[in-house]
Amino acid sequence: MAEPKVNELMEKVVSLCKRRGFVYQSSEIYGGINGFWDYGPLGAELKRNVKDLWWTSMTRRRDDVVGLEATIIMHPQIWRASGHVDTFSDPMADCLLTRKRFRADQIDPQSGTAYHYSGARDAETGKMVAEAYAVLLPAGKPPESARKVATQYYQARGLKQVELEGERTEKVENSQRFNPENGSLLTEPRPFNLMFKTYVGPVADEDNVAYLRPETAQAIFAQFKNVLETSRQKVPFGIAQVGKAFRNEVTPRNFTFRSREFEQMELEFFIPPDEAVEALTGSVAKPAAPGHPGAPQRNWGWQLWHQYWVEERIRFYDSIGLPRTSLEEYWQKPDELAHYARATVDLLFKFPFGTQELEGIAARSDFDLSQHERCSGKSQGVFDEELRTAWGKLDEATRQRLSDSYFQHRQKYLLKAGVPAEQAARDAKEDAEGLAKGQYIPHVIEPSAGVDRLILGLLTNAYSEVTTTDDKGKTETRVILRFHPKVAPIKVGVFPLLKNKPELVAKAREVNELLRAHMMSFYDDAGAIGRRYARQDEAGTPFCVTIDFDTLGETPELKDTVTLRYRDDGRQERMPISALLGFLLERIR
Ligand code: ATP
Repeated sequence: MAEPKVNELMEKVVSLCKRRGFVYQSSEIYGGINGFWDYGPLGAELKRNVKDLWWTSMTRRRDDVVGLEATIIMHPQIWRASGHVDTFSDPMADCLLTRKRFRADQIDPQSGTAYHYSGARDAETGKMVAEAYAVLLPAGKPPESARKVATQYYQARGLKQVELEGERTEKVENSQRFNPENGSLLTEPRPFNLMFKTYVGPVADEDNVAYLRPETAQAIFAQFKNVLETSRQKVPFGIAQVGKAFRNEVTPRNFTFRSREFEQMELEFFIPPDEAVEALTGSVAKPAAPGHPGAPQRNWGWQLWHQYWVEERIRFYDSIGLPRTSLEEYWQKPDELAHYARATVDLLFKFPFGTQELEGIAARSDFDLSQHERCSGKSQGVFDEELRTAWGKLDEATRQRLSDSYFQHRQKYLLKAGVPAEQAARDAKEDAEGLAKGQYIPHVIEPSAGVDRLILGLLTNAYSEVTTTDDKGKTETRVILRFHPKVAPIKVGVFPLLKNKPELVAKAREVNELLRAHMMSFYDDAGAIGRRYARQDEAGTPFCVTIDFDTLGETPELKDTVTLRYRDDGRQERMPISALLGFLLERIR
């Protein structure tokens, strides 16, 4: 089997996506809109399957996670409390010549000779433009190339007969200040807030500004208390949400990998602070060995919960056809961590364009709920009667130690949040006294995954080509999408052997009706059977069934049996119709 070369793979996947109706460019008939993608018939099924699998494994199959479906537009204060209004930005820089925009931190570093100019004069009119400009040339390129680009720059500023002034050169190494495509100097990087703004109500002024959510997580924090009070859950427990998120990415790219509108699947799993765990259980269990730590225990501290969720997420990917070996764990270094995060693991997948983030699993301390408590003035703490009782039974030294530790943690948070020192000390003392009475603000572990990136991962992982040669020596290359049956958009193709035999067609339709009540099945009677198989292979359909004359009883012992064909090896076997549904359900769920 020929595996396509990595650099070609993306192109092939993108073209297959369009050809077979997985993904189209949004608004294509008007030339498209950068960073927005639509999912066609097969893509919509694939996406729905992925979201359902996540939802089922995260909520329905667990006692300790419940769901939420919140609005996309929320009170703008939420985004002030979360820090998004002030800090959710990427550095951007524009090409001074073409105005093309770049993510300043993602420009490939370049080396060479920079040609600087202090300005230029119009030889005809004497008009002067006293603006400095520069062009970077890679080693070996003649200075004329730089002068040509600089001339265009000054021409765009109104000069006709450009005479460059004050040329000087400088050796430059690993610079991100120049446009890699034409060498032109870029503007200074400046922060660009990624949130899409809109206005709520008929008046478009600053008082009515709202934002399209850049992540689904904040709604979970904002509704934490409501969910706690209405779901009969008790910390530790989680709230899950799947939904759209919007980021005005400076440079959307790599197909759907970095889009401006995308979907997230996020879980916020709330846990007690380690001090409460110790008071309740006498100790705080920490990770002892790599791998899955097993079923959750009451004495787990945040590190074990974090490890648990990293491993749970890897198991999930493994179960839907992205094997462990296709993923990498990247533990963010202390200087890469958000200031509130205690640890973050990025799960990376080997995309054809590089190994990149599929999901982040962050231990976010009690930052989020604390922020919402401070900014809304509404308590986000929980009360645990058991903790209050357990605290009463601790010896004085343990009480003091746990209380001090909690005080330190709260004080650090408050100071970072900008609360004046005296007040921070007072509030932190109150928090520590609250802990002794069974109150605390939960900490959180957040596994946050992108649906679209996962779809892209599944597509590139499933893509394979098979080349066959027939008796006449003619070779043919066919595409097979080797999706796991759980995610495959179509689970089964149902074919009558011949289209013009009403008995075959009727029986095939009957089998299709039987199956479609339980799964996505696809009836097809057009063309030779081999072509029908090939079409389903390309759509990633794991099974096909063919209804032939034996099904109708031509060979009496084969009556009411069908041929079942496996996508991955082309194997075929005979199966009674009565066994078909059970066989398929076992494999697709
Ligand atoms: P990146 O560093 O790649 O921009 P991020 O760390 O900002 O990602 P998070 O804020 O942690 O991403 O979002 C969680 C998940 O949401 C990511 O792991 C990714 O799967 C998905 N995601 C984030 N931004 C985008 C985007 N622009 N397009 C598609 N998916 C995205």
